[in-house]
Amino acid sequence: MKRSMLCVALVTAGVLSSCASYSPTDFSRQTLAAQDGWAAVGGGVTGGAAAKDENVFVVSSRKELVAALKSAGDQPKIIKVKGTINLSMDDAGRELLETDYAVAPYNFDDYVKAYAPAVWNTKLDPKTKRPSRDLTGPQEEAREASSKRQEAQIRISIPSNTTLIGIGTDAKIIKGGLVIGRRTTSNNAEPVVSNVIIRNIEFQDAFDYFPQWDPADSWKVDKSYPGCQDTYVDANTGPQRCPGGRWNSEYDSVWLSGAERVWVDHCTFNDGDRNDKKFPPNFPFPHNEVTQKIQHHDGMLDITLGSNFVTVSNNYFHDHDKSSLLGGSDGLDKVDGGKLNVTFRHNLYENAGQRLPRVRFGQVHTYNNHYIGDAAGLDNAKFSAYQNHLNAIEAHNKGNIWRGAFGIGKNSAIFSENNVFDIKHGGADIAAVIQGGTKFLDQGSIVNGQPADIVKALNALDPKKQVSPDLGWKPAGYGAKVLPAAEVPAYVKANAGAGKLK
Ligand code: CA
Ligand code: CA
Repeated sequence: MKRSMLCVALVTAGVLSSCASYSPTDFSRQTLAAQDGWAAVGGGVTGGAAAKDENVFVVSSRKELVAALKSAGDQPKIIKVKGTINLSMDDAGRELLETDYAVAPYNFDDYVKAYAPAVWNTKLDPKTKRPSRDLTGPQEEAREASSKRQEAQIRISIPSNTTLIGIGTDAKIIKGGLVIGRRTTSNNAEPVVSNVIIRNIEFQDAFDYFPQWDPADSWKVDKSYPGCQDTYVDANTGPQRCPGGRWNSEYDSVWLSGAERVWVDHCTFNDGDRNDKKFPPNFPFPHNEVTQKIQHHDGMLDITLGSNFVTVSNNYFHDHDKSSLLGGSDGLDKVDGGKLNVTFRHNLYENAGQRLPRVRFGQVHTYNNHYIGDAAGLDNAKFSAYQNHLNAIEAHNKGNIWRGAFGIGKNSAIFSENNVFDIKHGGADIAAVIQGGTKFLDQGSIVNGQPADIVKALNALDPKKQVSPDLGWKPAGYGAKVLPAAEVPAYVKANAGAGKLK
């Protein structure tokens, strides 16, 4: 029932004297609707709905948020966020910056000099035949120590039985991130956090001041690059002239790490005014690919390490490269196998480059989402790596290069229906990307205004990479009616994101 109709009904019944005294729905006590996706199938999510009065908090700073979480522990609790919480703010209200976290002798320019490919990559690790990933020396030690200081400040753990919800239309959590759960690959026995609701909050800029350079990430001997070979001859010829290496960053705006029964609804995710576009690649050729920009942000909403039963609805993800990673590694069968089951519905993705989501192991249901991107500069298998490098630079894509919405990874089974893809400079064959998986189904989706057979388009690319729509499962829970794809763009534009709960 619409709120206004409810009000009229209450006046008619004599419950309210007039609609002026009608107070709107208390969203903070709402629970996930029955059947609303995987989180409902897995037992439902009530968050803090049963909170006693002493466990209902209004918080406007990191200090108040931390105090509220500590005071209520695992009891049902409702934490209402009012205005902007800057997680990099100390208890006295001063924002901590890079210089506050940095441990001597860390200095970005010295770090860059120490591990520059022209220095570090001239000799390959004899075992891996790649540049060594083990960055030794005082700069990496100091970077790690600095990073730990920042992490202790800006990462906030959310315990079980929590509703965290923004008040009104301008609640924000910025310059840090939430962790729901606390698993690592080495402590799988630790209990998971469960039953958490996050709603109506804009998350901005989980900025990592101390990104790490990984010289071997995506590195390869590719002889299409002038001078690239595995043995060093001189400055122009040797492994230092081969492509690869990536900057990696630590923080997600929201990270589910061994969390179960979580509902993320009506939130907005972006990088605020520190978009990674502002931090272009810093090493010279051949390490000046757009993918080698200095990453100061990781995921917007990552779901890893045995997390399960999650519903992600009505969110707005924008202006960020990597949105959602489901499963961090192919080697985590024991941790993630049979888990990472997530529903994505009625979300809007705009200028979000990839991982919408990228899935390993999970049975993922994605319906009625709208994806808007631009693939100018995307690698094309027809060309050499070096030609693609030149093309990407030439393309001058001002946003994040579209690299496919769904990453079809190991043992994943994605069920996509009635989604809408608007991909400039691309079509159905890059709506998704096969990354080690073999199953994918799409029905009813539209690509660039036309009904599209995405499975057929993917399977036409490479005879060695094929997907079958025989997933072995079917979605059990639909929280909202599946809209015809043609109605999705207007619907998500009106409803997706923080400030739009109604
Ligand atoms: Ca990372
Ligand atoms: Ca992450």
